[in-house]
Amino acid sequence: MKKIAILTSGGDAPGMNACIRAIVLTAARFDIEVIGYAHGYNGLLNQEYASLRPRDVHNIIQRGGTILRSARCDAFKSENAAQLAAQHLNTLGIEALLVIGGDGSFRGALHLSQFWQGQVIGIPGTIDNDIVGSDATIGYYTAIETALESIDKVRDTADAHERVFVVEVMGRHAGFIGLHAAVASSADYVVVPELIKDTKTELNAILSQLDEIKRRRGHCSYVIVISENLWAGGATELATILHKETQLECRPVILGHVQRGGSPVSQDRLLATKLGAYAVEEAIAGKNRIMVGEINQQPVSNELASAWTNTKSLDGYLVKVQTDFFNLSKQP
Ligand code: ADP
Repeated sequence: MKKIAILTSGGDAPGMNACIRAIVLTAARFDIEVIGYAHGYNGLLNQEYASLRPRDVHNIIQRGGTILRSARCDAFKSENAAQLAAQHLNTLGIEALLVIGGDGSFRGALHLSQFWQGQVIGIPGTIDNDIVGSDATIGYYTAIETALESIDKVRDTADAHERVFVVEVMGRHAGFIGLHAAVASSADYVVVPELIKDTKTELNAILSQLDEIKRRRGHCSYVIVISENLWAGGATELATILHKETQLECRPVILGHVQRGGSPVSQDRLLATKLGAYAVEEAIAGKNRIMVGEINQQPVSNELASAWTNTKSLDGYLVKVQTDFFNLSKQP
C-alpha cells in the first residue's frame, strides 16, 4: 500500500486531531503517503487536499476541533457526486479512504464504495457515543466532562439562590451524555431519549420529587438534565411550566456547542490514538467497508453498516442506580 486519504466529516468531536496524528504516524512507519481532505466530503468533490507528513501533525494531539475542518455535504448523497469523488481518488492513486465521523459519515463512505474500488474504513468520532461496535466514540469522554463542569457550576448558583435549573445537553437521539453527566453531577432528575416516558409522566415525577425535597430541606435547589429536542420548547419551556406549577424560580441553561469544543481529555486522546493506528493496520491488511472500534480495550472491526443497523444501549446498571437514587429522594 502506497497512499491513503483521510477526512473528518459531520459533527466535530474533540480527539479528531489525535486520530489524524495517529494515522499519519502509523502510515509513516509503513512508508505510506497520507492525503488529508478538507471540509469532509466537500474536499473530495472540490479537490481540496494536502499531503500530511509527521511534521504536520506535531503538537496537535491536545487541540480540539480538527485541522482538516469538518463539514456536512448534502450534495455527496447523489450518485454523480460519489462518481466524481471516485474519479478524483483514482487520479491521485489513493487506495484507501479513512473517514472519521459519525454514522452519517459512515453512510457516506459506503455510498462512495458503491462507485469506487478502493477500501473505505470508518473511525467513530462523535460526542454522541451512538455507534455500536465501539464501547466509546472519540470525543464522547470530553463532552461528558464539559457538560459535567457546567452542571457543577449551575449547581453552585442553584444552591446559592435556591433555584431550579433545567440544563439542556446535546444528544437528541442518544442519552449517553445526558445520563452520564447527570449521574456524575448528582443532578436530581434526568430526561434522555431512551428513558423518557410521556412528558406528563415526567412532569409529575419532577413535581412530586420537588415537593418532597422542599418539604424535607425547607428550601429548594434542584437540577434537571434534559437532552435537546426531547421536550417541545426544550429546557426553556420546561422551566416555564415548572415555574407556573411551583412558583419557584426556574431557569433554563442550554449548553449547546461548547460541548463539542475543548482540549480532548486523556481517554479521548488514547482512544483516538489506538483507533487511528488500528485503522491504518486494517487498511494494510486489505479490509474494506469496515469501521474500527474498541471493545473491552481490544481494537476490533465490524461491518460499516453495523453502525446504524444496530442501536447501542445505555449502561443498564447506571440507569438502575440513578432510578434507585431518584426513588430514595421521593421517600418521606
Ligand atoms: P455524522 O457523521 O456526525 O453522523 P451527518 O449525519 O451530518 O453527520 O453526516 C455527515 C455527512 O455524511 C453528510 O453531510 C453527507 O456528506 C454524508 N452522508 C450522510 N448520509 C449519507 C448518505 N446516505 N449518502 C451519502 N452521504 C451521506
